[in-house]
Amino acid sequence: RPGENPQIRPELMIEHLKRTGGQVVTRFPPEPNGFLHVGHAKAININFAYAQAHNGITYLRYDDTNPEAEEEIYFTSILETVEWLGFKPHKVTYSSDYFPQLFELAVKLIEKDLAYACSCTGEEMHAMRGGDSRGSRTECVHRSRPVAESRAIFMDMKAGKYKEGEMTLRMKMDMQSPNPQFWDLVAYRVLNKPHHRTGATWRVYPTYDFTHCLVDSIEDITHSLCTTEFQMSRESYYWLVDAVEVYKPVQWEYGRLNIANAILSKRKLNTLVTQGHVLGWDDPRLLTLSAVRRRGFTPEAINAFVRDAGVTTAQTVLPPERLENYVRDHLNQVAPRLMAVLDPVQVVLTNLPADHYEPITVANHPRDPSMGTRVVPFTRTLFIDRADFRDAADPNFFRLVPDGVVGLLNVPHPIRCTRVVRTADGAIDFLEAAYLHDDAAAPKPKTWIQWVADAPEHGSPVPLEARLFSNLFHHANPFDAELVPNGWLSDVNADSRRVITGALSDVGMRAAAAKGSVNAAAAAKDVARFQFLRVGYFAIDPDSDIPNGQYVLNQIVSLKEDSKK
Ligand code: ATP
Ligand code: MG
Ligand code: MG
Repeated sequence: RPGENPQIRPELMIEHLKRTGGQVVTRFPPEPNGFLHVGHAKAININFAYAQAHNGITYLRYDDTNPEAEEEIYFTSILETVEWLGFKPHKVTYSSDYFPQLFELAVKLIEKDLAYACSCTGEEMHAMRGGDSRGSRTECVHRSRPVAESRAIFMDMKAGKYKEGEMTLRMKMDMQSPNPQFWDLVAYRVLNKPHHRTGATWRVYPTYDFTHCLVDSIEDITHSLCTTEFQMSRESYYWLVDAVEVYKPVQWEYGRLNIANAILSKRKLNTLVTQGHVLGWDDPRLLTLSAVRRRGFTPEAINAFVRDAGVTTAQTVLPPERLENYVRDHLNQVAPRLMAVLDPVQVVLTNLPADHYEPITVANHPRDPSMGTRVVPFTRTLFIDRADFRDAADPNFFRLVPDGVVGLLNVPHPIRCTRVVRTADGAIDFLEAAYLHDDAAAPKPKTWIQWVADAPEHGSPVPLEARLFSNLFHHANPFDAELVPNGWLSDVNADSRRVITGALSDVGMRAAAAKGSVNAAAAAKDVARFQFLRVGYFAIDPDSDIPNGQYVLNQIVSLKEDSKK
């Protein structure tokens, strides 16, 4: 692409090549005004992968020119997230580091009579740009202000002699251009806010339109990769770098990634969080990267998902199931298996002695012996899931019924239900069954179900709280005014988070929890993830500390795409 750059000034290109030696240089430039989301994972992958494929380098650049919206927590979280995805920035940079150079370039622009001090209010500017109806446009009187006067005012803006909103520096572009990005964009505004890095040094701050391309140029970015909403900005980007006569990177656009039944926009995510529709930025129902990390999605799955989504200019809206399929496929390979019952009912094997104890060695993964084995106790009393018992025989139900036989996963012989014991109000209290270890004529079970021993003396079961999630929005597109007449927030699914208390797992949970999985790139312990056989994939919630040895789990995904519907 650089070869296609029409107006490269050879002398600037030579300077640039001296600095980079022809190396590809890209940047991932988030504004630190929120947490990153799955859409950003696409931007991260594109920038890092393109550079990697060409032996290039990638900067993580905080585009921190708006002190009002920025907070320290976002800076920390963004770097952590990039590293968690497995990418290592060549260098971390900040647009604010270039404030002095940017200011000099603004002065240069004034001196070339390509910028002017303007006291129009925002409304006046809007009206002169044709207003809401995009009608005819007019140039403002300040446009013809003498260079020396604009220069003096700009210095006074910097010196703090103007209040917020009183004065801006605008680029003298082309009010008659069909491209709104040429309607004399604001380059600098007065802001009396301390900046988290430059403190109270500055009273004027450059805008995105002024900063972005110039910092790309200063950093010798070769490929300025951005999303298609900046297509209109491409010409103004080139206009500005040409106007101040600096090296011109090439801008190249790709389509934003969107996911149905979800929101990917920092501002809207912020609304969901601050209005209490979700329980924070890392609520596992969100598609922020901190949320999906907490939920147990793996970086490998997220990267594969965004890579396979492809780099086209088309905006893509992908179904959430697509992302979940990538997660499921990866976890199927790497997650150890455990047994858990979410809704336990007790079974007493009445033909075994009260102190019966059989240690059963179980593989942690059926196809990966390197994951080792664990020992679970098999005792006279155990729990199965209430859903695996039905009170009456049913030819389509292959699990436990009165007088019926079912297998217990990893246990050599099946059991037969001999009695249903009820409470006074008729509910099932517990089941009695026989362990068919000495019955050569016992029928072969049609199904094997999961179970956990009810044997506190052997450390079993392990108590759990399980949190199950569904899509946060009812509709694929919560902005569809016909389907959602009362606005996108009215489309939030209030039942998207279900908490199950009193669930139980086998003793393997403790070791699995302690191990977690080590994410080498982030050099940090990741959440422990596993498959509960026949139930789904779960991860230990890193933020919940519930006493009495109970674990809090987030469901990552169900076992099969359709099993959750
Ligand atoms: P948001 O609307 O969520 O705040 P943004 O574009 O304002 O997004 P930035 O912090 O400016 O967020 O984003 C950094 C980079 O990530 C930009 O290059 C931006 O184009 C890209 N990006 C943001 N959202 C997406 C998305 N959904 N798909 C692909 N790239 C994205
Ligand atoms: Mg942005
Ligand atoms: Mg934004």
